[in-house]
Amino acid sequence: MKVVYTLRHRLHHPEHEIEASRFQPPFEHPGRAEIIQAALAADALFDFVAPDDWGTAPIEAVHDSGLIRFLETAWAEYQRHHGRTHDVVPDLFAMSALRDGMGPAVEPRSISARLGWWCFETTTPLTATTYEAARSAVDTALTTANAVLAGEQVAYGLCRPPGHHASRSLYGGYCFFNNAAVVAHHVATTTGTKVSVLDVDYHHGNGTQQIFYDRDDVQFVSLHGDPARAYPYHTGFADETGAGRGVGSTINVPLAAGVRPDHYLERLTEACDAIRAFDPSMLVVSLGVDTHEADPISDLALTTESFEWCGALVRELGLPTVVLQEGGYADDALGENVRRWLHGVAGTTADA
Ligand SMILES: [Zn+2]
Repeated sequence: MKVVYTLRHRLHHPEHEIEASRFQPPFEHPGRAEIIQAALAADALFDFVAPDDWGTAPIEAVHDSGLIRFLETAWAEYQRHHGRTHDVVPDLFAMSALRDGMGPAVEPRSISARLGWWCFETTTPLTATTYEAARSAVDTALTTANAVLAGEQVAYGLCRPPGHHASRSLYGGYCFFNNAAVVAHHVATTTGTKVSVLDVDYHHGNGTQQIFYDRDDVQFVSLHGDPARAYPYHTGFADETGAGRGVGSTINVPLAAGVRPDHYLERLTEACDAIRAFDPSMLVVSLGVDTHEADPISDLALTTESFEWCGALVRELGLPTVVLQEGGYADDALGENVRRWLHGVAGTTADA
């Protein structure tokens, strides 16, 4: 199986994140990608290739061009106004109620205000070279898709930073550009065929859902912790099913805390049935393994071996499949969890 990977992910390396009112080392750190890389490099199933440079046009096709320009320049502009910092994090957010009854807001001029205009939360610092890392993650995703378009049945993009929380005009949730959405849009529009995105990260892929919510050419199917208790809280409820032409093309499956493999596999089987009914030409998987029982920021109870069963269920769809890395923060289990899922989808057996 082709694995697309580049060390450029290291260019995003925050020192801290503000999570649950604590100022702490980031859960989303460069070591995550290196743990996965090492686990796959030791296994003969996987062949590593570097990503090609795709430029910004595929990103502009799904994101506000203002967001792209902001991410390219914001860190340096912040330094000019606030002095030297390693990380840059908003301290004020552009909540619409601030201007209730006063007409719509326009993008502010101050860098401090613009941070809270383009970012929705506090766990996603910008560093000096975050933009380059985010661009490389998109390049990784598109190069993976290109391998599948060229005839591979399945390929894996070791994307970092992840992408599924980035909406058309907002970054956050460790995500800057929505790697899976860029790929799904690129494939759907260049081939004129339907694409399904299956998001199995513990957290709802709010960004991917938002980008495709009113479209009927890209289906979004997500299994995730119930947003009644789980990040990102505002999206991912079962009654969110799409709008306009997209009604019925969004499917959300919120899960209770502590869900174990047997129940999860039943829900995943139903999700795969919905994908069959949509009849896409290609499947994009947002692969988060933060559903693992040891994950420090999640509360489901999947086992390492169950990831292989999950991948095998997805394989039964028989679709050309682009697998892209999203979350997963149980560092000790991370590499093996991803390796198992990929063996499942490849139809091979992971020797324990
Ligand atoms: Zn996640």
